Amino acid sequence: RDVACDWSSDVCSSDLDPMRRLLQQWERLSRYSLNTRQVLLQLGWMCGLVTLGAVISAVTLILHPEQLLASAVLFMSGCLGLAMFWGGWILLMWTEVRRGRTSRKRSEHVITAIDAIAIGGVLDCEELGNPEMQGALQRLSGEHQKLLRTLEVERMRSSFAQDLAEALDIADTAREVYEIARRAADVRLNSDNFHLIVDHGETALDWEVSTGERACACPSAKRCPALRKGRLMNFSPGGGLARCSQLLQGDTHAICAPVAVAGKSLAIVQANWHEAPSKDAEEACNAMAHALGTRLGVVLSLEEREQQANTDALTGLANRRGMQNLLSDLDEASNPYAVVACDLDHFKKLNDSFGHEVGDRCLCLFAQVLQEVCRASDLACRPGGEEFTLVLPHADQDAAIQVGERIRARLLHASHAAGRPFTVSIGVATTVGGTQSPEGLLEMADRALYAAKEEGRDRVLAWSSDIARLVA
Ligand code: GH3
Ligand code: MG
Ligand code: MG
Repeated sequence: RDVACDWSSDVCSSDLDPMRRLLQQWERLSRYSLNTRQVLLQLGWMCGLVTLGAVISAVTLILHPEQLLASAVLFMSGCLGLAMFWGGWILLMWTEVRRGRTSRKRSEHVITAIDAIAIGGVLDCEELGNPEMQGALQRLSGEHQKLLRTLEVERMRSSFAQDLAEALDIADTAREVYEIARRAADVRLNSDNFHLIVDHGETALDWEVSTGERACACPSAKRCPALRKGRLMNFSPGGGLARCSQLLQGDTHAICAPVAVAGKSLAIVQANWHEAPSKDAEEACNAMAHALGTRLGVVLSLEEREQQANTDALTGLANRRGMQNLLSDLDEASNPYAVVACDLDHFKKLNDSFGHEVGDRCLCLFAQVLQEVCRASDLACRPGGEEFTLVLPHADQDAAIQVGERIRARLLHASHAAGRPFTVSIGVATTVGGTQSPEGLLEMADRALYAAKEEGRDRVLAWSSDIARLVA
């Protein structure tokens, strides 16, 4: 019934079960080492021997009364034998009982110890007595604690990966993905600062997430070693030969993991520590880069397609679709806004005189003028031809007229500077003080624009009841 256990090898909880079962058996056996059958058998033998001795003595006395001495001697020796037998028997029983008790106690301790190990509790082996068993269980306990710690780390890793995947799955925009990256770094990396540096395909990289001072001055994706090599890079402080030359501080640990999808580099996950990061942090950076790559690839390409569908190819301004999207958003949110409708004057003549290419350049120049007078919340659009519209959220009529005048003044200056002077007529309408639909407001701005053309061009007119009468 020996059991060979390799205490030094990796042990997991299920490996303890056969051992525990065996010990339970052992305990049962030792508990019943003095069973009733054995005791009855021993008593039977005793009674038999005593009866046999008495019968032999009695028969000898009856048959040979003269041999009293011999019978007495026989009787005495029988009694002595009996006393020795009983003494031996009692000694044996007493030893058995003690042995049973000790082994039962020991096996109970071993079972308790194994149970403690199985649930990851702290093991006190002192009561086990046997130093070899103590040592073996202590080693087993150590191995088991190590295993439990590994399992806990694995559990954390997989629950983080699952949480991240679920969060990213419901992120519809790149902004949402960046926000999730920031939160994930907060929860998992324990770094001094974290950056998500995105390569939007232009020359410069964009620091879309930054939780501290920039740690690297990488000017473009081509100069980033992690992106070039397509693998995670871990840089230690001290300015060793392999340290990235773009890193700004020499005394920090930096991990840079490339975020890519289908072989296309999208971004870099960068985290910095003053103390050396754990192996776990490196794996967390890799897991984040991997998960972000998949989702960022999808949302960025969706956003790019949406952007293309809403953009005018010649000027880069929003097209009619982009304008209508913004107007319906403003309308749905019941936000007030103004529209400034612009139409270049005598543009056909300009085209006919200098050619379409010059005409196109003039359109681009006017688009630039519009962008210069715009605030970040305004939207400049080119719905078509030589017609442009500016949407100004929260602007009343006076503010919209001022913007119109600024456009005229700036165009005058810019077109003169470009050597092709041309002018613009502008019509203005606002929802402030009224409740117009986007279509209704665009119609009013168009009528005001028409009136400006009628009045001699190169001017700004706002929608009013007079204009309504004039246009009618
Ligand atoms: P008005 O002052 O009354 O607005 O006169 P206009 O000549 O500007 O207006 P009209 O509607 O008669 O002509 C618009 C011209 O704009 C006709 C077309 O050649 C020109 N145009 C429209 N789209 C483009 C474009 O994409 N590129 C160039 N170069 N010209 C364009
Ligand atoms: Mg026109
Ligand atoms: Mg025109």
